[in-house]
Amino acid sequence: MEKTLNGRREFIKNAGKAGIAAGLTFTALPSLAEVFEPATYNIGFLQKPLPYAFNALEPVIDAMTMEIHYTKHAAGYAKNLSDAAVAEGVDIKKMKLEDLLKNISKYSTKMRNNAGGHYNHELFWEVMSPKPEKAPDQQLGKAINKDFGSFEAFKKQFADAASSRFGSGWAWLTLVENNKLVISSTPNQDNPLMDVAEVKGTPLLGLDVWEHAYYLKYQNRRAEYINNWWNVIDWDFVEKRYRKLTDK
Ligand code: MN
Repeated sequence: MEKTLNGRREFIKNAGKAGIAAGLTFTALPSLAEVFEPATYNIGFLQKPLPYAFNALEPVIDAMTMEIHYTKHAAGYAKNLSDAAVAEGVDIKKMKLEDLLKNISKYSTKMRNNAGGHYNHELFWEVMSPKPEKAPDQQLGKAINKDFGSFEAFKKQFADAASSRFGSGWAWLTLVENNKLVISSTPNQDNPLMDVAEVKGTPLLGLDVWEHAYYLKYQNRRAEYINNWWNVIDWDFVEKRYRKLTDK
């Protein structure tokens, strides 16, 4: 996988050089970060392609749940976010979604629900993988041990936050001031970037505990969904996100 990405990077770099040599301009080339990098920080206003097939995370997440979740629920948040942005005068070419979320109290409930919904799902798809790194190591592993005692203690606290969220919402591992890690949960489609959040920071990892995320397979058994979900978390992605945000 990494080889393929590097190969494509080289191709674009060389194509750009060839273009310059031939006196052509390549102003329309998308940035490499937009095309190839995971959403380590910025998330746009449009849905990215799902980075794996609908059935890729089976048996943890079944194909039908994944397809409906991505093509109906998450697509709806993205569309309604764009509609709200137009209605409320937000220029999505200039405004970063993160900056919108940080000032979300200035906008409508529709904007809050859909900006949060879109951001949360774009992150959610990325933290999962069919070939996940099963545990954090390096800098994030050390930080988790420091702030929660151990990886197991962290998982228990996170699962408690996810299972005790009444109704619909999310559980988060969030980077807050002084590079400290905290666990929290938010209702509905709120998230820690929002100025209305109780715990504010940048989410590294988020778990969707809306029933639409698990009901077809797990019905009322949210705890089983949470427990199985650990098996598809790609800690390599979370580690990279952490390192980018902390410059470690
Ligand atoms: Mn969802």
